[in-house]
Amino acid sequence: MKKHYLLTPGPALIPEEVTDAMAKPIIHHRTQGYRDIVKTANENLKKIFKTENNVLTFTSSGTGAMEASIANTLSAGDTAIIVRGGKFGERFAEICESYGVTAVPLDIEWGTAPDPAKVGRALEENPTAKAVFMQLCETSTATVYDIKAVAEVVGKTNAILVVDAISGLGADEFEMDKWNVDIAIGGSQKAFMLPPGLSFCAVSKKAWDLIKKSTLPKYYYDFNKYEKLAGKSDSPWTPAITLVIGLAKALSMITEKGVDNFIKSHVSDAEFLRGSVKKLGLELFSKSPSNAVTAIKVPEGLDGAKLTSSLKTKGVTVAGGQAHLKGKIIRIAHMGAITQKDLEFALGKLKEALKEQNLKV
Ligand SMILES: *Cc1c(COP(=O)(O)O)cnc(C)c1O
Repeated sequence: MKKHYLLTPGPALIPEEVTDAMAKPIIHHRTQGYRDIVKTANENLKKIFKTENNVLTFTSSGTGAMEASIANTLSAGDTAIIVRGGKFGERFAEICESYGVTAVPLDIEWGTAPDPAKVGRALEENPTAKAVFMQLCETSTATVYDIKAVAEVVGKTNAILVVDAISGLGADEFEMDKWNVDIAIGGSQKAFMLPPGLSFCAVSKKAWDLIKKSTLPKYYYDFNKYEKLAGKSDSPWTPAITLVIGLAKALSMITEKGVDNFIKSHVSDAEFLRGSVKKLGLELFSKSPSNAVTAIKVPEGLDGAKLTSSLKTKGVTVAGGQAHLKGKIIRIAHMGAITQKDLEFALGKLKEALKEQNLKV
């Protein structure tokens, strides 16, 4: 089969070893064999999140875990501060509103990272705020946020810090315990090298104290139900067995290499792509570029949609911009199994596509 270069910020390329692991006959989940698989997967998840807390696994795309982080911690009428610098920041605010939680947006220019002092000010102005929600990597702008610095600010208050690390985890540096993050969220179709369908939440002691007081409705995603069984490598409902088997395989590949080395390879792939893009005379969109995905400005006068569709006919799928960035940027992912070789291939095709639009490169 001819390789198709799926370089979007989720889903992205999956290693053959992982696909093969998922192609085996289905097994039952209430068996020792399956629990053994879950046990190793759970241990390795902690290494990725850099935490001693249990990492709870849900059957959903990332948004399910984002919603769960709100439904499990807050109560109707609560206030939460939302860093809003792109589509995924907006999503947190929308979920809050649908649960009757007042979302106080901290709006920042798309493509920039929030100033930690401004988060501190928002907390001072909203002393009853129970939580701060933000991304590690805001995928819509390919921007990494300084979680460590914000966590220091939030840590001095009663509020918890919830980080959507879905696209950043494994690619950008992240330390749940060392930095004092209260809830960290992950999703399978990003650097985890899996198809969509699994999401993760790691939960701190400070967050558990808030969870005990939360009265928002929840059932399927009730953290208590998952936490109770986590130590037994079990789950309250039928898990996505096939995906969890794939997860165990992907995590064993990552941890064999070493989590820090895995992140380092993302750093070098990202640096390679950013450097090459500049050599082509193109500009980066983000002022704080992530190592999971790169956003490139579409040169003035060119049509971004034409560029992405032309790339697709050449066997490379990348993402365009969302909302007001539609047609203005293209986003190339370098997460998970995507290698520098894949990026070289994509760059070659990008050059061709630009030439077709009569741009000298
Ligand atoms: C991919 C992604 C999500 C989750 O989106 P789903 O489509 O629900 O998987 C959430 N936040 C960020 C930052 C993401 O990149």
